Amino acid sequence: MEKILTEEEQRTFLELTDNASKVVICAHVSPDGDAIGSTLALKHWLTRKGKQVTVVVPNFFPDFLHWMPGAGEVMVYMKHEEEVKAIVEEADLFVIADLNDSARLMELEGCVMANPAPKILIDHHLNPADFCQLVISHPEMCATAEVICHLLHQLGELEVITAEEATCLYAAMMCDTGAFTYNSNRAVVYECISHLLNRGIDKDRIYRNVYWTCSVARMRLTGYLLYVKMETVPEMNASIITLTNKERKLFGIKNGDTEGIANMPLQISGMRLSVFLSEDTEHEGVVKVSLRSVDDFPCNEMAARFFNGGGHKNASGGRLHCGMDEAVRKVHEAIKSYAHLLK
Ligand code: 5GP
Ligand code: MN
Repeated sequence: MEKILTEEEQRTFLELTDNASKVVICAHVSPDGDAIGSTLALKHWLTRKGKQVTVVVPNFFPDFLHWMPGAGEVMVYMKHEEEVKAIVEEADLFVIADLNDSARLMELEGCVMANPAPKILIDHHLNPADFCQLVISHPEMCATAEVICHLLHQLGELEVITAEEATCLYAAMMCDTGAFTYNSNRAVVYECISHLLNRGIDKDRIYRNVYWTCSVARMRLTGYLLYVKMETVPEMNASIITLTNKERKLFGIKNGDTEGIANMPLQISGMRLSVFLSEDTEHEGVVKVSLRSVDDFPCNEMAARFFNGGGHKNASGGRLHCGMDEAVRKVHEAIKSYAHLLK
């Protein structure tokens, strides 16, 4: 494993963390496995270094991440607005993980940016915005957790992290790579995993904790979405699935219970692009767009051009301010304009 910080950056990192006593670690809106795993690993590690550490996120994260060590202490701004504001105001260091722009903090952005305390960004999204004193950004890496593995390795800490810390890091990398089925061809990813196994993780159990936890309702919803709601565009090797809040209610589906649905149509032979449209549960008149692809199809470019979003080449997202029918029309338009890459 190679060093990822210059000597000066390493000095800055150590100085910032040594001088801090109250650390707030934040992640992006609708936190995913990488966001929760990375922030919790950092929380456990910095707590061991004697810091008072709180993880704060803008809104709720899915149930299948609640088993992670420390997940119960994550402060959700949407639920505890005043408490979170007070903790953020008191912070003397921020570590911001798994996002490239403060706007991805949504409602948290205002209070975080109002506190002039130093900020460290640890991330793997393209084009990090300039809002932190120290930027540790590695878009070539599979997850923010991988960046953290390299960072800890450079500091001589990866060999001595606790099993809890290693568990959070492995879960985070696993979630951002579909259990190492995409974006995970670099050999060093497996070097990281090897270190984590040496620290006592049970990777088989972590897999089950994340992927084999669906409720009866979720299993039935999946069947319904694939049988009734999936529209394929065979000549474009693309598919579209839509989910309304009415359907969520009908099936008794909770927030986040749709994780992984977007990936499913890619199991169809020859399928290159899967689009999953779901009505936002928190903002009326907003449709969330999830894009998944295989090989070289650039979801992030499509997300930026058509859906006010972005992300990674094979997994991106965005949102549309319109109804579902209009959103579906927009998706067809986007697919048509990418015919040269899809056919
Ligand atoms: P998901 O489809 O799971 O919501 O998002 C997949 C990926 O797309 C996320 O990991 C994130 O990198 C990116 N993404 C999702 N929504 C947005 C968005 O609104 N803006 C940007 N820039 N990226 C997004
Ligand atoms: Mn990530």
